[in-house]
Amino acid sequence: MSIEQQDLKLKANENRGLFQLEAGEDLLGWDEVTQGSVLPSFEGDASKVAFQKAEEREYSNYNSYTATVASWRVIKPVFNIDVCIDCQNCWVWCPDSSILSRDKQMLGIDYDHCKGCEVCVEVCPTNPKSLLMFSEYEDLGDALASWPEKKKKEKK
Ligand code: SF4
Ligand code: SF4
Repeated sequence: MSIEQQDLKLKANENRGLFQLEAGEDLLGWDEVTQGSVLPSFEGDASKVAFQKAEEREYSNYNSYTATVASWRVIKPVFNIDVCIDCQNCWVWCPDSSILSRDKQMLGIDYDHCKGCEVCVEVCPTNPKSLLMFSEYEDLGDALASWPEKKKKEKK
């Protein structure tokens, strides 16, 4: 798998950043919305979204997927598929649904929504870990090239 493939692009990337949920010509600020208002998360018929993969859904401009929060992050997780055992721990524990997994196979990180909290690294059980934190500006190829070796068990 190439580094580009690890950064699976979601459909929402096409319109993310176009609308910010703040006061403007066409949109109300979050504190101006009338109580009981409904902001649709999807365009058109949303009856099938539960059966669609994230990149297949038609997100509305009010869905959090259309906004990137990547600028919040100062460190990022890097995924090394050569060590991963597809246990799905990271997918279960990520608080921002930013682990991309399809058919129980770990694919990579959604860098538009990952906030760099490091939880995925903490719960990864492999030796060495299949996810490690690097500076936000680290080149992915350089990060993978510097991956640590397997740690040997200490003799007791
Ligand atoms: S660093 Fe945090 S937000 Fe990003 S993928 Fe890992 S658990 Fe999710
Ligand atoms: S926790 Fe680690 S080994 Fe398990 S799926 Fe995630 S990256 Fe792979």
